[in-house]
Amino acid sequence: MALDSREGTMAGKWVADAPVRPPLDWNSPQFWDEGELLAELERVFDICDGCRRCHNLCNAFPTLFELIDESTTGQLSGVSRHEFWKVVANCHLCDQCYSRKCPYVSPHEWRVDFPRLMLRARMVRYRNGGVGWGMRLLASPETLGRVAALPLLRPVINAAMRSGFLRRLAGVHPDAVLPPYQRNTVRRLFRNRVMAQPVPAPSDAAVVLFASCYGNYQEAGLIADLIAVFEHNGITVVLTEQERCCAMRHLEMGDLAAVERSRDMNIPMLADWVEHGWSIVAPVPSCGYLFRQGLPSLFPSDPRVRKVAGALFDPFEYLAMRHDKGCLKTDFRHPLGVVLYQQPCHLEAQRIGMQSCAILSLVPQTHVEPMVRCCGHGGSHAIRAVSHRAALAMATPIVERIRQIIPEHYCSDCPMAGRQLESGLADGSRAEHPVTLLRRAYGI
Ligand code: SF4
Ligand code: SF4
Repeated sequence: MALDSREGTMAGKWVADAPVRPPLDWNSPQFWDEGELLAELERVFDICDGCRRCHNLCNAFPTLFELIDESTTGQLSGVSRHEFWKVVANCHLCDQCYSRKCPYVSPHEWRVDFPRLMLRARMVRYRNGGVGWGMRLLASPETLGRVAALPLLRPVINAAMRSGFLRRLAGVHPDAVLPPYQRNTVRRLFRNRVMAQPVPAPSDAAVVLFASCYGNYQEAGLIADLIAVFEHNGITVVLTEQERCCAMRHLEMGDLAAVERSRDMNIPMLADWVEHGWSIVAPVPSCGYLFRQGLPSLFPSDPRVRKVAGALFDPFEYLAMRHDKGCLKTDFRHPLGVVLYQQPCHLEAQRIGMQSCAILSLVPQTHVEPMVRCCGHGGSHAIRAVSHRAALAMATPIVERIRQIIPEHYCSDCPMAGRQLESGLADGSRAEHPVTLLRRAYGI
């Protein structure tokens, strides 16, 4: 039977405490009306101007406050509405302002939801044709991955990603780290685990892995580590016959149609597995965030969306529940020493607590120092030429802390955040995923 209840666990407590977020009302004509959108931006920006708690969270708020402070009136009324789009462009939808700071979220009568308002603005801009081909290409890792899976084309794609000329054309910063596409994709490496049809779950420890396009094409080693750790703990792991990119990057860009296409393929299939008693594990936090928060907000009346959201887990959240049941092995053979752990924003926004930190701390002679700060990666934010420098600057406090404490390992649950920290350190060191560290601690 699937672990469909988080009650009684640390994760369960966090989920229960989450504020109720009203769905995105994209079915109403007002949602798409640019005049109404600009009026709502003005209303919320005015509240933010009077509050300014979020002044140091990201680049969107400093952009807004600078526009206001440098306007002729020193008030929001002195900022022309077309400049509001500069604020929208600087938000990378990390959700921190909503989940960490804002006292005015619903049920407060002001109903401030800054990230969702930025998302609405992007959806309106996308529908009005305001997104170029470079952005659309960056939002399609799966399309590139499929092409790169063809042996003769992989070197061509990887070379194109390094090419300064093509990077300029696509709006990619010359120093941005783009992990190469790998020959051995997850689906090739683990083809013996691919199941054509759902079968009844063999036990209460059985998961379907949503490998993600990033995991499948670019980080197969992470998926291999996860499978090894889960199997060591008696958890059955299978892959579905096919999966489509969760479309988080499309959502960030405002492409609702792409999100719907992805939902139509992934959700019925995953819901079918859940009905057969399986849980779902998504190792990339942004995928988990999309399944748990993005899709339920966009499609609140779809029961299959809710079913999948209720049965989906982060890997360490799942391991923490096994630990609560006394089923997690603690036969660790190798201490890890000092580990700096960065919690990605899209994991924090799922409100499951710091389960990776808790599990790694079970390893003897291991001290985990957590950092709850945005690394600034934000999907394509760190890759794009216009935002690369600002994104890297956001990682600076974490990078400085790593330089200060010189840990044996530094890690993040988000592989892209890990690459961002490597970029900031620029000393040739490599970030590791917590599940890779756990595998090493087990010595398996
Ligand atoms: S969602 Fe993140 S990037 Fe966007 S405004 Fe809030 S804190 Fe800034
Ligand atoms: S999002 Fe909320 S907390 Fe942040 S500046 Fe605006 S009103 Fe203040």
